[in-house]
Amino acid sequence: MYSESHCHLSGITDEGIEKARNDGFRLLLTSGIDLDSSIEAVASAKKWDIVKGCVGIHPWYADEYTPEVDNLFRALAQEPEVVAISEIGLDFKGRMTKEWVKEESYIDRDTQIESLRGQLRLAKELRIPAIVHDRAEGTEIIDIMLESGSTETGLAIHGFSKDPGYAETCVNEGIYLSVGLRPLKAAEPGFHEAVKKLPLEYLLTETDSSDPQGVLTVCDMIAEMKGLTRKEVGEAATENLMRLCRL
Ligand SMILES: [Zn+2]
Repeated sequence: MYSESHCHLSGITDEGIEKARNDGFRLLLTSGIDLDSSIEAVASAKKWDIVKGCVGIHPWYADEYTPEVDNLFRALAQEPEVVAISEIGLDFKGRMTKEWVKEESYIDRDTQIESLRGQLRLAKELRIPAIVHDRAEGTEIIDIMLESGSTETGLAIHGFSKDPGYAETCVNEGIYLSVGLRPLKAAEPGFHEAVKKLPLEYLLTETDSSDPQGVLTVCDMIAEMKGLTRKEVGEAATENLMRLCRL
């Protein structure tokens, strides 16, 4: 069995879901990046049983996180299909605009940190995990997550692409790490070693896209690095995700 801890399924069809089901997918977590896409994520989760929804304001749009949005998320999260707060985080490496144009500039640090802290607080209050996007330097984001006390209700870093020291800090704090195709292929220094050493019980898999198929390649690549089979990696990652989301 396989799973996506982080994808954006807008535009997926019944056929796409059926294909994923036939390929052995048991759980697909689709994330919002703003209010509209969070509402859409909940609708997808209501439509298909293998899909669960996450609501959140992405760091690229951190200035859209307001008390009204926080309240709307609180209301949305009453739906049983909402299992996590995501996509939230920090990104100091540029942003994609809503028109999907890459920009070097980003929402100012304080606004991003405030949005992250507020949504971590919400996850803790709702007793659901938070799945976090980390494009900040070093372990800054881990410090913020630990301060928030949301390790109690579950944390994961999506798009993990850092080194063994970072992974060890996460594992020691009970934070899961989700591995996707892009970092595996780009192989930043230390990243492959970090994946090799990562205890299997902290591993999640993702594509961060609208097509879950890539998870199979992710499982193949991790399996080769760890001397396991694709199936063993997929099963561990799926069990971990279910544990994280209390499913
Ligand atoms: Zn994403």
